[in-house]
Amino acid sequence: MLVPPPQFEDRDERELLLCGPGPSNILPSVRKDLTKPVLSPICDDYFNIMSDIRTGLKYAFQTKSELILAISGSGHSGMETIITNLLGPNDTLLIAKRGIWDLRAETIAYKHGIPTHITEVPFNATFSFEQLEAALKNYRPTALFITHGDSSTGTIQRLEGLGDICHKYGTLLLVDTVVSLGAVPFLMDEWGVDAVYTSTQKALSGPAGITPVAFSELAQQKINRRTHEPAFYFDVTLIAKQWNCFEKSKNYHHTLSPPLIWALRRCLIELSNETLPKAWSRHAQTTALFHKMLTHYGFEFLIPKPEDRLATVTTVKVPKGCVDQDFMNHIRYKHGIVIFGGLGPTVGKALRIGIMGVNSNEDVVTKVVQAMVDATRTVVKSKI
Ligand code: PMP
Repeated sequence: MLVPPPQFEDRDERELLLCGPGPSNILPSVRKDLTKPVLSPICDDYFNIMSDIRTGLKYAFQTKSELILAISGSGHSGMETIITNLLGPNDTLLIAKRGIWDLRAETIAYKHGIPTHITEVPFNATFSFEQLEAALKNYRPTALFITHGDSSTGTIQRLEGLGDICHKYGTLLLVDTVVSLGAVPFLMDEWGVDAVYTSTQKALSGPAGITPVAFSELAQQKINRRTHEPAFYFDVTLIAKQWNCFEKSKNYHHTLSPPLIWALRRCLIELSNETLPKAWSRHAQTTALFHKMLTHYGFEFLIPKPEDRLATVTTVKVPKGCVDQDFMNHIRYKHGIVIFGGLGPTVGKALRIGIMGVNSNEDVVTKVVQAMVDATRTVVKSKI
């Protein structure tokens, strides 16, 4: 053989407490469902699971829209799907830029020849509707892209009422809820959101690799009259026929991963059992406790205004005298907890701590704060 069989080393399988901005730990029930039997992509059992997922997603996004399904891929595939199904080179995308995800949207638009306009705030702030409306009035774009919860900065953008403002200017509202759905209020229909995607690996505590998306009636009309072609793999007009969005078409488009559809179904059952209001208040209460303890121990928030702070991902300044990597290493190797450093505009400026989904509880908060306090003392001391 040209290439002999390789020798694989054993890898560390220690289960860590995942308190970065994602992924979070997986719910035990979801882990169990990941090993359910493999199904063929053209059998009724498979379509029934997909039907359960669509029902659960309507609840999670709070929409009655029929164009609702999941894309095979991580969060980025949702971003690429909503942008490229709705916009082509004859359209314009206004990007509300405050963190790395808006930058990614800009890159995707660029790769598909979609012209963009930018309206920007500093990374530690969020947009006022006045600023957004001024940009909408000025550019009259086909769509506005905005991130609800920004995991690179730790901010939450107010959205309630933004859909109406967008629609006044003939603009569709596109929203990233990757790190917010299931943890903070999001009401697609009530807020006039036209296209949205989320993730499974953050507040829903499932595995990454399958990404829910939903489109409003207005967005569907735009898709029906579009003059450009999105990629085959992300074309929702084709994928909708596999997900039986409008009729029992039961088409084959591609092989969805059976473990992932079982897992997503279970995440949605868990969310429906808890109910959205209870999940939102659990996250709000847990984060309030976390922030109180951080303040008590002298950690400084990166985001100055409390109302701008995201409930799932908290950003604090790197403690004085600490190198962020040493701090994270201490927490990981001594305490078995993963937290992250900055990303995009917050690189070198912040530690990002995610307390969400199955980890949003008092016990996890206490462990994380104890580990952070210990790291502050130990890492600083060892540098002196
Ligand atoms: N948007 C936000 C807000 C995110 O936090 C992430 C992931 N960290 C993404 C998009 C991209 O998701 P993925 O890594 O699953 O592709």
